[in-house]
Amino acid sequence: MRRRDVLSGLGLASLGACTTLTPPPGPPSGKPYLPGRSYAPVHSSMDRVTRTVVGLRPYRPQGYRLDAERLGEKAVIHNYGHGGCGVTMSWGTSTVAADMASAQGRRSIAVLGAGVMGLTTALILARRGHDVRVYAAALPPHTTSNIAGVLWLPTSYYDPDVASEDFLRRNRVLIRAAHRGFLPYVNRPGYGVYWSDHHALSRREPGQYQPLPGGDDLYPELQRVHENTLFGYTYMERFRAIIIDPDYYLDQIMKDAQLAGARFEARDFDSLEAVMGLPQEVIVNCTGLGAGALFGDESLTPIRGQLTHLLPQPEIDYSYVAPSDEGVLYMFPRRTGLVLGGTHDMGNGNIEPDPAQVKRIVEGHAALASRITTPA
Ligand SMILES: Cc1cc2nc3c(=O)[nH]c(=O)nc-3n(C[C@H](O)[C@H](O)[C@H](O)COP(=O)(O)OP(=O)(O)OC[C@H]3O[C@@H](n4cnc5c(N)ncnc54)[C@H](O)[C@@H]3O)c2cc1C
Repeated sequence: MRRRDVLSGLGLASLGACTTLTPPPGPPSGKPYLPGRSYAPVHSSMDRVTRTVVGLRPYRPQGYRLDAERLGEKAVIHNYGHGGCGVTMSWGTSTVAADMASAQGRRSIAVLGAGVMGLTTALILARRGHDVRVYAAALPPHTTSNIAGVLWLPTSYYDPDVASEDFLRRNRVLIRAAHRGFLPYVNRPGYGVYWSDHHALSRREPGQYQPLPGGDDLYPELQRVHENTLFGYTYMERFRAIIIDPDYYLDQIMKDAQLAGARFEARDFDSLEAVMGLPQEVIVNCTGLGAGALFGDESLTPIRGQLTHLLPQPEIDYSYVAPSDEGVLYMFPRRTGLVLGGTHDMGNGNIEPDPAQVKRIVEGHAALASRITTPA
């Protein structure tokens, strides 16, 4: 995959300039970045690190798989391969997967996987009155979905040069459905879903403005800013974004699915034959990267991502994604701490934390924080 795709996949079409080596200029001294607000600096240092986690994004250049096929006696509905935006897209694609499963006319349905896709699909089906059993090798908090950031932004999940027109047309509709699905959870006690004041920073002006994924109206208070930007970058898109803390959110929707009647069973399938041996005639496949081996999908590739968590800073009420000479840096605030990213290593399936990347990320965010000036 080319670097442009990783960046545009991050929702940072305007960050293509991070391939240049010019550092961003510092902010005009003493000036507030934006009228009416100030920014507390992130205290990014090695002694504030609480943990570093690594996850593998399940990426397909052609985009996620969302379809039904007949395998022997079974109807198998596929809902996997969402790359770097599975949490974002969960309500969109899982609703369609649940519709396909319900359309088979059976009460009993098996869901494979208990990441965000399996949990959301199971919740929707159980609320419709289906007898749902979830089979998964890993349950929360041990899934890739628990590792994610999470910024609600539909990015980093297909190569625009490979995805079909059909995929892109349908995807536009599903982005909006996915957004609608999350709105009822924002600020709902216990779900770990909040609004953040988000900043997508760039070193250069975009040649031409592109609407944000799904349409600008999904991003409240959107401003395209050319001066007094955060950290002094040349250009900034600032908007309200939904931040999801997956440890809270996945726990809650798993409980919601259980309350609606879904049952969970720890089970690691080592072959398609083992899956075909399930008693249910309808199976929804939400196995993420696991679908590669289980269903023979050779287009699935891991994109390795490493995140470092810092001690909480309750005064941090903003998030950002920014280019740097050594790669993209992003910060998402949670109640339980600050999440610092990021890495995007295409085709790398190693889940051991890399100490050199921890240092790069912590020092990179400290350098950004040092550019914050207090409003006069
Ligand atoms: C560092 C990082 C940052 C990210 N940031 C974001 C972000 O900001 N926003 C966003 O929307 N997304 C983000 N993502 C992407 C997101 O995490 C994934 O797209 C999403 O988790 C995929 O969900 P899933 O349910 O398909 O897969 P998973 O969460 O991997 O769940 C798969 C489930 O299937 C089970 N399974 C697999 N194989 C088998 C088998 N053979 N037998 C039985 N069970 C099996 C697993 O045990 C698990 O329960 C990020 C990912 C990473 C790694």
